Amino acid sequence: MIKLNLDEQKIASKIKRLKDAAGSHSPSIFTICEKLSELNIKVDACFLSNPYATELFLDYLKKDLIDTNKLKDVLEFYPSQNGVIADVISKSIDVDSKNIFVGNGAIEVIQAVMHNFVEKRVIVNIPTFSSYYEFAREDTEVIYYQLNKDENFKLDIQSYVNFVKSKNPDSVVIINPNNPDGGYIEYKDLRFILNNLKEVKNIIIDESFIHFAFEDSEYSLISATELFKEFSNVIVIKSLSKDFGIAGIRAGYGVMDQYKVAKLLKNGYLWNSSGLSEYFFRLYNRSDFFKEYEEVRKKYIAHAQEFFDELSKIPQIKVYPSMANFALIELLDGSTSSNFVSKMLIKYGVYTRTCSDKIGLNGEFIRIAARSQKENEIIVKAIKEIFKDDIA
Ligand SMILES: *Cc1c(COP(=O)(O)O)cnc(C)c1O
Repeated sequence: MIKLNLDEQKIASKIKRLKDAAGSHSPSIFTICEKLSELNIKVDACFLSNPYATELFLDYLKKDLIDTNKLKDVLEFYPSQNGVIADVISKSIDVDSKNIFVGNGAIEVIQAVMHNFVEKRVIVNIPTFSSYYEFAREDTEVIYYQLNKDENFKLDIQSYVNFVKSKNPDSVVIINPNNPDGGYIEYKDLRFILNNLKEVKNIIIDESFIHFAFEDSEYSLISATELFKEFSNVIVIKSLSKDFGIAGIRAGYGVMDQYKVAKLLKNGYLWNSSGLSEYFFRLYNRSDFFKEYEEVRKKYIAHAQEFFDELSKIPQIKVYPSMANFALIELLDGSTSSNFVSKMLIKYGVYTRTCSDKIGLNGEFIRIAARSQKENEIIVKAIKEIFKDDIA
């Protein structure tokens, strides 16, 4: 069992204070480094992004904006309005721009949808990304649908449909792949759910991790935006933070019925994208960038799945199957998740996320992000050693 010595305990209590102050999200690596300068952090396996895509974005940014001195324009002038950026995105995802609402990150789309379209009752599957219940209006009742640990948190579509029908909600939220467990609903199953829940006004599908999921050996891109064209009650929410590794620029969008987009834009959200996120959306539309992105996306998926396989070989943990870029792991040797996180951070410089604050998760769970191949090796080595130390 992982135990902390006195010095480690002191640092661990500081880490806990930072975590408490950050609410249901984790303190950023900047905060940790700033407040705990005694730590030497080598790998951030808490934040869920594709590091290869960040490098690619930086290469383009340097070529297009820095070397040409166009960065000045991006900073000096107003970015385009919401509807203009929607036009740009429209070409990348083949959806009419009237159906696209651009957000300052997906988090703003979630907030807008929860405040404006979710009414009396919403069903949220747990464990989940906390904003879907935290941003619910006071007059909205949140009903939880518990994903079953014994079924690896995989959604059982028939029992889900029965549950939803019995509760008669106006909205449901499906995150696919789900955060924090990486559970995935196949495209055909999603279609089954939509076919059976036509009476639900809003079916919110959060696809923030969909670029990491695959249904064929080519890792072809999947998206429910196609389903939106068939089912008008679908609202697709998409963050670009994780797959493109650009959380700092805040780029996200929602695809929804055009009257919903019009309602949101009628009294707000005019210039909610920054110049840098506009630059990103225009880049996303370029075939030279997209071709290279596809390469780093596929490379990252392969490395992430290899990483999960390596983790699965460690006997003291259970690794839940994941179609995202992170794995939910459960500690089986009696160690607590907070001791695991502290020890990994203090002794090995690897920052991981405890899931002790996640509702609907009972047990000792950690979420670990896949990073570059080199960093993944450091993480695996550290975890193996942590349990070895223990026996000695
Ligand atoms: C991270 C995350 C978001 C928020 O993404 P931003 O675009 O950075 O605001 C939304 N939904 C899920 C499921 C996430 O994990």
